Amino acid sequence: MGLIVQKFGGTSVADAERIHRAANRAIAAAEKGNQVVVVVSAMGETTDELIRLAREVCKDCVPPKREMDQLLVTGEQVTIALMAMAIHAQGKEAISFTGGQIGLVTDNAFSKARIQSINKQRIFEQLEGGKIVIIAGFQGITPEGDVTTLGRGGSNATLVAIGAVLEADVCENYTDVDGIYTADPRIVKKARKIDRISYDEMLELSGLGASVLQTRAVEFAKKYNVPIHVRNSQNDNPGTWIVAETPNMEHIVVSGAALKKDLIRVGIKNVPDHPGIAATIFGDIASANIVVDDIIQNVMDDNTANISFTVEHGDLDDIKPVVDRITKALGPGTKAAYVSDLAKVSVVGVGMRTHTGVAQRMFKALADAKVNIQNITTSEIKISCIISREDGPKALQIVHDAFELEKAKT
Ligand code: ASP
Ligand code: MG
Repeated sequence: MGLIVQKFGGTSVADAERIHRAANRAIAAAEKGNQVVVVVSAMGETTDELIRLAREVCKDCVPPKREMDQLLVTGEQVTIALMAMAIHAQGKEAISFTGGQIGLVTDNAFSKARIQSINKQRIFEQLEGGKIVIIAGFQGITPEGDVTTLGRGGSNATLVAIGAVLEADVCENYTDVDGIYTADPRIVKKARKIDRISYDEMLELSGLGASVLQTRAVEFAKKYNVPIHVRNSQNDNPGTWIVAETPNMEHIVVSGAALKKDLIRVGIKNVPDHPGIAATIFGDIASANIVVDDIIQNVMDDNTANISFTVEHGDLDDIKPVVDRITKALGPGTKAAYVSDLAKVSVVGVGMRTHTGVAQRMFKALADAKVNIQNITTSEIKISCIISREDGPKALQIVHDAFELEKAKT
């Protein structure tokens, strides 16, 4: 007996039959004596379709973000009602809530809002009354009462946040894959399902484009120590457990590899080299809610610096005006350049802290395959190489082979 939060992604609730199947899982967990909360995404490709529709209406304009969120939250609202009905159809009691109805308050960064608080009272009252509680993922409400969304894939953030505030025993993330793989199985045929992975490794992997879980959701899970079990909604196989690190994880040098496919490098040349400049530049970029990584600064002989960083291709429309404004303010000598068609291949593992030679092995494997490395960045448990987008899939395959990730290490 415990408290379980289950989340069903878009493909797991894509039609009436699948909604019934998901409802049956929730009911089965409740019949074992658990209190059950279910977080759902929009059905199938609904969110993508709504985005397409917005673009059709707003042909030569960028849809206002507030209105975009107003539109997108409708997807999840459909699913919660249908899920509650599916549970009623089995003679069980359920109640559905939107983000606003459970006081899931966010900041007002439309399209990428951050959760600030959740009113758990309303959820507990219903659970104690014996009901299965269904919650719309991906959405919240600002203190002013405007609806917001949490970024694509945001129902995972909802899952973990709900799990954290309710102090759930487990967050079950039902999706259309069997778990987390050593690399994207669509690219690397020999990729293997991982049984257990630490929060830190998962954080690196999801930040690197392993798309099963949003980075923000994993950060939350780590902070509140909520275990996540990623499972396939179409079968009963055990999936991947994402948990706090244990000492025996250290002997696995590399747990997984990832590929980020569509990156742009922004370079700013002739930046005056004095204190505060980097803080100003990245402050402005952060205020525009753009996530940058792989920042590199080189100081030149003439008291100027060159700064470069990468962003996702999709953020180009947002970042260009910001960077143009910054370069203009820094004077006529400062210039910005954008290089697209880049990718990033990375390997991740907590064992890197205690093992040497990992970087060399990766670089050698890429060199042997004639993949040119443009930039290298590392963290304690990650090595990343920026390469051309064209080389991406091949590079992922190569590093997977180099570290023999297809073999389980025990
Ligand atoms: N429906 C939203 C999306 O497709 C949220 C989610 O699925 O997690 O991004
Ligand atoms: Mg979705």
